[in-house]
Amino acid sequence: MRAVSLHRDVLVATSAVLQVNCVIVRGVVAGDGEALDGPAQAGGPGESIGGAREAPAPGQAGETFVIDSPVLPDELATLPALLEQARFPAPSGLLATHGDWDHLLGRLAFPGVALGCAESTAERLQAAPGEAQRELRAFDKGLLIERPRPLALGSVQALPVPGRCAVGDRELELYPADGHTPDGMAIVIPWARVLVAGDYLSTVEPPTLNDGGSREAYLATLERLRPLVASAEHIVPGHGPVLNAARALEVLEENVASLTQAT
Ligand SMILES: [Zn+2]
Repeated sequence: MRAVSLHRDVLVATSAVLQVNCVIVRGVVAGDGEALDGPAQAGGPGESIGGAREAPAPGQAGETFVIDSPVLPDELATLPALLEQARFPAPSGLLATHGDWDHLLGRLAFPGVALGCAESTAERLQAAPGEAQRELRAFDKGLLIERPRPLALGSVQALPVPGRCAVGDRELELYPADGHTPDGMAIVIPWARVLVAGDYLSTVEPPTLNDGGSREAYLATLERLRPLVASAEHIVPGHGPVLNAARALEVLEENVASLTQAT
């Protein structure tokens, strides 16, 4: 697993298999000794997941969310130490960009932490209970991977999308991102200018329509992402290298072209 820092509040850990990206985001809390750089985000109260916030340890100001997950058991086992090294507090929430099994493994690293996702993903998970676990078992079987415990998603928290989600005194912006699958969301980390795109805008995975995916919805998502890409500094696709805005816009155009040609 490779881990890089995109911003003092944003780390990306990339799994050695499938190049799945896990994004770790810290929102500072005012009064914890770190001033918010810039005006506080305006707008209504964000959706809060994870419940009561524990007092941060010295030097660990704020609140941490973990978006998506690496895949291998060793990588998942390393995540808590990675957060500690970066002096991020232990996560109070997990988020998944969509309901495909390879993005849902965060609870193997942080078993007690609640998983939040788009309403569309919560509905999908509810409609097909055990699907992620079955697909994970099939993947593990193929690679002879053994896990210390089975995957339990717990009570999944459905977040309104489009919407906002509070992390510390900051807010993540959530945008619908369906088409690859029938569900999903893209997440903007506005103060770090990072867009977590889900399974879109990848240089390693061409546009893929999974079960329940739709070309029209995929194209609509790409158009929805376009302005978000343009104003981001880093675009993190579900799989593969982190892109700058110029490269991500090129990938977006290539994807639009390939999807509109395929009839
Ligand atoms: Zn994926």
